[in-house]
Amino acid sequence: MPKEFSAQRLDVKAFAEEGASLSGQAPVSAFERLMAETGGRGGDRLVTWSAQGALRNPHHVHPEIWLQLQAGARLSLICQRCLAPVDVDVAVDRSFRFVADETMAEAEDDESEEDLLALSRSFDLPALVEDEILMDLPLVPRHEECPEPLPAPVDDLPDEAESTKPNPFAVLGQLKK
Ligand SMILES: [Zn+2]
Repeated sequence: MPKEFSAQRLDVKAFAEEGASLSGQAPVSAFERLMAETGGRGGDRLVTWSAQGALRNPHHVHPEIWLQLQAGARLSLICQRCLAPVDVDVAVDRSFRFVADETMAEAEDDESEEDLLALSRSFDLPALVEDEILMDLPLVPRHEECPEPLPAPVDDLPDEAESTKPNPFAVLGQLKK
């Protein structure tokens, strides 16, 4: 029977050795940082993801441990042109190589084209999904074409009486005298 893997506490090495895969989905509301980005809009939309483990050189003394991640979501961001909500599709497809520890990941990351992460026996996969989606968000979200602004309802238009009211500061000035 194949080993059961937990997404929240993933034994990355075993996952790669078995060439196992996992997939899942969770509402945006389950991701605190994504909810912050969307201002709480669309919390019931789904973030879907899948991950595959692999050893790139299985016969080597120190086989390379890899994890490939795909994730997708449609998030409601704010259009920087018209300031109305805009739906942005995010799709992540990246591979990560796992090295012994954090120090090694940082040391090698500068020289390496690869995305390095520190090996863990209880790796938090949903947190990586969230990290990657956040990194994939556009810096300046925008509608391709902004919706036409709705005509202001008649009630909201300043009426004659209001616009001819005296400036309140002028009134204050008179009171002081
Ligand atoms: Zn817009």
